Amino acid sequence: MHKIDFDLVEMTMDTMKYVIDRVSSTTTKIGKPKKAEELKALVGETVTEKGIGGEYAFKLWRKHLAGANVPVDHPRNLAFVPASPTRAAIMFDLVTAASSIHGAYWMEGAGGIFCENEAMRWMVSLTGLPEGAFGVFTSGGTAANLSAIVTAREYWRNSDAEHKSQKGLIITSIGAHSSVKAMAKVADIDVVLVDTEDCLEKAALQDAINKLSPLEKQRLFAVVGTGGTTNAGIIDDLEGIAEVCEQENLWFHVDAAYGGGALMADSVKHLFKGIEKADSITIDPHKWMFSPYDCGAVIYKNPELAKDAHSQEGSYLDIFKDEGAHGFNPTDYQIQLTRRVRGLPLWFSLAMHGTDRYKQAVERGIELAQIAGRLIDEMPHVELVRDPSLSCVLYRRIGWNPDDYKHWTYQNHESGFALVTPTKWKTADTFETVSRFCFINPDTTEEDIRMILETMA
Ligand SMILES: *Cc1c(COP(=O)(O)O)cnc(C)c1O
Repeated sequence: MHKIDFDLVEMTMDTMKYVIDRVSSTTTKIGKPKKAEELKALVGETVTEKGIGGEYAFKLWRKHLAGANVPVDHPRNLAFVPASPTRAAIMFDLVTAASSIHGAYWMEGAGGIFCENEAMRWMVSLTGLPEGAFGVFTSGGTAANLSAIVTAREYWRNSDAEHKSQKGLIITSIGAHSSVKAMAKVADIDVVLVDTEDCLEKAALQDAINKLSPLEKQRLFAVVGTGGTTNAGIIDDLEGIAEVCEQENLWFHVDAAYGGGALMADSVKHLFKGIEKADSITIDPHKWMFSPYDCGAVIYKNPELAKDAHSQEGSYLDIFKDEGAHGFNPTDYQIQLTRRVRGLPLWFSLAMHGTDRYKQAVERGIELAQIAGRLIDEMPHVELVRDPSLSCVLYRRIGWNPDDYKHWTYQNHESGFALVTPTKWKTADTFETVSRFCFINPDTTEEDIRMILETMA
């Protein structure tokens, strides 16, 4: 024991020094992966009977392993959906871990869950959902989408005895995130895809419903609209989808995992009109609300329906429902039981900075996309594929084939300069390989964008 305590002091110093260096550094290189065998050759056996000691293990991390990761918060990491957790949220993530809070039940986690709920109340207010709407933090958008759709399916099954033995069916568009299909597989639900990567319009949705067979129509229980597609930042016609869902008596889920942060931005908020009519909404604070991984959220118009679907029963759990333990139990509204109070870092950072700072940071991401659009217009070797939407920019390098894009991405990644990955954009029947920026980090500069575009000349 004595040995462990001795190590603990040194290890704490090492950890704090590393954390402080990491959150203050603005010049980290973009790291890159190595093969597992190479990493193994560098660090040797690390899990041994006697232990290798904290100091040495930490040294291995710093020297060989930290750099084999891509920092998602690098100002020139514009690939996929990057992230940019605030320093306050990162520091409070350490506090969250140190506090050892079991975040499933109020009885054990009242203080932490109270804070999560304060942050959640603000998130719910952004959506405009009616009084009574509420949500919980999940491990991410995938878990949030799954929790929502299982709730919708349970509600549908309970509404008609005939549905009990039927396989459910949902409609979404090909612009929807891959996780929608993935979670439908987990829940054993069929998916009908409307064939557009652009905005899913009311008429196209109605058309897809009209084309279903009578049996399929019976099995249809939900529509998933996207509030900011991951590929291009496109917001579906949420108002129109809401009308169809109301007429057809369907659950309306909005996946705003990436775009949800833009509900803060006055410049684009109107594009989300109709989201306030959703039955459930996914928003990932770990994308555009500057939280560290992992932090997603699912919000329900009627949380009681989520409880019907997700509340776990077990004799060992009865105590949590006793007198005196009354309060909000996050486990009842999503698929996890034991959970980290992962909304706590967001709460601290929101409380510290105020929501105005968050709004400004999101507006900056949108502005950066506009700046990139202008630079692309000005440069002769590149052109926009479509106008920037939210913080996504799709553009092409004139004359390049898919291999050219790939080669360019690898080259910039290899040198640690930038990470910008190609994607595909579908028009009519062709998929074109193009380049894509997604801005989250408000510290990305116009010069960063210009330098990246110049490496394509
Ligand atoms: C990122 C994303 C998801 C998946 O979220 P995870 O947090 O990665 O699980 C789902 N939907 C959309 C629209 C996304 O952008």
